[in-house]
Amino acid sequence: MPDPVLEVTDLKKHYPIKKGLLRRTVGNVYAVDGISFSVAEGETLGLVGESGCGKSTAARAVMRLVEPTSGSIKLEGQEIAHLGKKELRPFRREMQIVFQDPFASLDPRMTVGDIVGEPLQVHGIARGSELADRVAGLFTQVGLRAEQMKLFPHQFSGGQRQRICIARALALNPKLIVGDEPVSALDVSIQAQVINLLVDLQQEKKLSYLFIAHDLAVVEHISHRVAVMYLGKIVEYADKKTLFSHPLHPYTEALLSAVPIPNPKIKRKKQILVGDVPSPVNPPPGCSFHTRCPHAMPRCKSEVPQLQEMSTGNWVACHLHQGGKAVAA
Ligand code: SF4
Repeated sequence: MPDPVLEVTDLKKHYPIKKGLLRRTVGNVYAVDGISFSVAEGETLGLVGESGCGKSTAARAVMRLVEPTSGSIKLEGQEIAHLGKKELRPFRREMQIVFQDPFASLDPRMTVGDIVGEPLQVHGIARGSELADRVAGLFTQVGLRAEQMKLFPHQFSGGQRQRICIARALALNPKLIVGDEPVSALDVSIQAQVINLLVDLQQEKKLSYLFIAHDLAVVEHISHRVAVMYLGKIVEYADKKTLFSHPLHPYTEALLSAVPIPNPKIKRKKQILVGDVPSPVNPPPGCSFHTRCPHAMPRCKSEVPQLQEMSTGNWVACHLHQGGKAVAA
């Protein structure tokens, strides 16, 4: 079997909390606390969870935009977790990120043609008329017109601006695109267009996506597999069909119960999660979800549940499911 495009093992990102005159470390923010997953060629892995669960930090750590505390990140089999700036440069071409707010990530003083062409120039790949031709091609690929290259970001709608960001991400022909809530800031109808564009591009170019989102309906549409994060850890990791039809973790169940079903005849029992996500500075002992879990048992307060494989490729970390079997609460 070929190497996955991305393989992440036991990735951690802890931010030290410093206090006092001597800036002593008095604690840590456990933003990402030992997560493992992989993304194959042409596959989309959805990474979901409430805000504050660490999914965006995980995305930034994978991209090496923040320094991981420990763990392994392999891009096409090559370890990149601890490479220096210079050694990392060739790998940067292979992985690109699309952020949530397309307006904030586009320089308002540059034409959108210059923005999309910038990576090609920086990496010395094209210049002059070849550069213009390549940028025109990228505009067409993302459903924009080549004549629009001369315009500035403010002359576009939100959806068009996100298309520009996608064109820029595609410029270097990457293997992996990390989408950090790439459609969350868009209207619902525009979201669908951008998602469909991403799906078409994936099929055409065999792109791999790590797709971060809090909206499970969006994740269901685009992902092949889904990892659910809670307080810096993955609590369930399964193929999309299994996860959406038979969620095993009580947190996944609660998230899914909030997803609207587009059929008024089908009713789903809503599970309201009480309280907020606890602070990652001081995560609860045992299962970090026990403060909000309707099934919490005494052992949940002291024993950390490990991820266990329930069926091929489907994992859950919960004491209700042990040794591949469900146990009574
Ligand atoms: Fe709930 Fe316990 Fe499972 Fe955590 S381990 S999700 S508290 S039942």
